[in-house]
Amino acid sequence: MHKVIVVGGGAAGMMAAIQSAKKGNQVLLLEKNERLGKKLFITGKGRCNVTNGCDIEELFGKVVTNHRFLYSSFYSFTNQDAIDFFEELGVPLKRERGDRIFPVSDHSSDVIRALDREMDRLGVDVRLNAEVKNLIIEDNCIIGVKMANGKTEKADSVIVTTGGLSYPSTGSTGDGFRWAKDAGHKVTELTPSLVPVHIKEEWCKQMMGLSLRNTGFKALVGKKKIYEEQGELLFTHFGISGPVVLSFSAYANKYLEKGITVILDLKPAMSKEQLDARILRDFADKINKQFKNSLDDLLPKKMIPIIIERSAISPEKKVNEITKEERTRLVTLLKEFDLTVTGLGNWREAIITKGGIAVKEIDPGTMESKLVSGLYFAGEILDLDALTGGYNLQIAWSTAYLAGQNA
Ligand SMILES: Cc1cc2nc3c(=O)[nH]c(=O)nc-3n(C[C@H](O)[C@H](O)[C@H](O)COP(=O)(O)OP(=O)(O)OC[C@H]3O[C@@H](n4cnc5c(N)ncnc54)[C@H](O)[C@@H]3O)c2cc1C
Repeated sequence: MHKVIVVGGGAAGMMAAIQSAKKGNQVLLLEKNERLGKKLFITGKGRCNVTNGCDIEELFGKVVTNHRFLYSSFYSFTNQDAIDFFEELGVPLKRERGDRIFPVSDHSSDVIRALDREMDRLGVDVRLNAEVKNLIIEDNCIIGVKMANGKTEKADSVIVTTGGLSYPSTGSTGDGFRWAKDAGHKVTELTPSLVPVHIKEEWCKQMMGLSLRNTGFKALVGKKKIYEEQGELLFTHFGISGPVVLSFSAYANKYLEKGITVILDLKPAMSKEQLDARILRDFADKINKQFKNSLDDLLPKKMIPIIIERSAISPEKKVNEITKEERTRLVTLLKEFDLTVTGLGNWREAIITKGGIAVKEIDPGTMESKLVSGLYFAGEILDLDALTGGYNLQIAWSTAYLAGQNA
């Protein structure tokens, strides 16, 4: 019987083990943690955004790095295949805003349990607390792995799914990158991605915890626009976070030194003229009120003191005394709320790793190394990354499907 070792019991590792066992291989899964899928457990704030239900062609547009490499894997195991796969394993799924797919139960643990059960049904030998130290390669051919306890495990093929470097507490400590380098593979620069953004202005701190469901988000370097999107944004004690910010961060690193300004449109559904008319109507309704007491219908409570301060309109001024010029300043502030980026979040905060094993040296149709026969890679360890919305797990499922089917 062909023996396959899978190193790493995360999303990609469990999928690879299942697919390999379905092919009739004898599969051994080695996970260094005391349980499977520690990172999977915290995905989607514990709800696990398993994939995205968008049109398959749209998937490629959400991949930030090396989307062409994914043609074979995305078409071999599509997002619809992922949905069917989990529903057949007894995890009913639901679709939320932005086509994000979650378990109906809202529990990532259901996804992990389903994968674990399926491995059990297929006879995968799952070993926990089993840390791999090195790969054993002879004459450009994989023959097994060396364990941290000194023992050797022999195999005909090895699939490495040890993940990236983000949230190292979940077990992703980059071991696989070192093994790949030792095997002669190029590993591209590794940087934290899908991270919160640090902001110079103190206003963010004052609005900490405030979440805006729909914000226009534009990032500029000088006058050049480097990113524009609309979506959910959260103010934090050091800056901004939330889906639209995380996605921006995937493109931001290379512009940091040049200086990035973020412009928020706090009222994206209205033009400046419509917003001005709306403010005039509000002022007419509150004709004898002071400016500081006139914005409750327009803005969240936490934001009002900041807007008042930045508008430079006296808070005590009666609204019927506010000039057109002052109103124009207020409208501009709400449509062009500017913030200065000072930095990006670190590995402890990063959703994913940008960079990884160079895909040029991997066969995109099988995930096999072009340098070492019988050695396969899948998941976040590869130089692939995508935006938030379930796309990164889809990369894990699809690449692991191919590795498992072919190893
Ligand atoms: C907070 C957070 C939320 C996220 N939410 C989402 C989401 O909702 N949707 C989405 O699509 N993506 C999400 N992601 C990204 C997603 O979790 C990853 O893309 C995905 O987990 C990568 O899977 P993987 O199997 O390649 O790596 P991992 O899931 O990191 O698994 C790697 C495994 O290998 C094991 N391992 C490492 N070294 C060794 C060794 N030497 N010996 C044995 N085992 C080893 C590790 O312990 C770990 O279990 C999120 C990430 C984070 C951090």
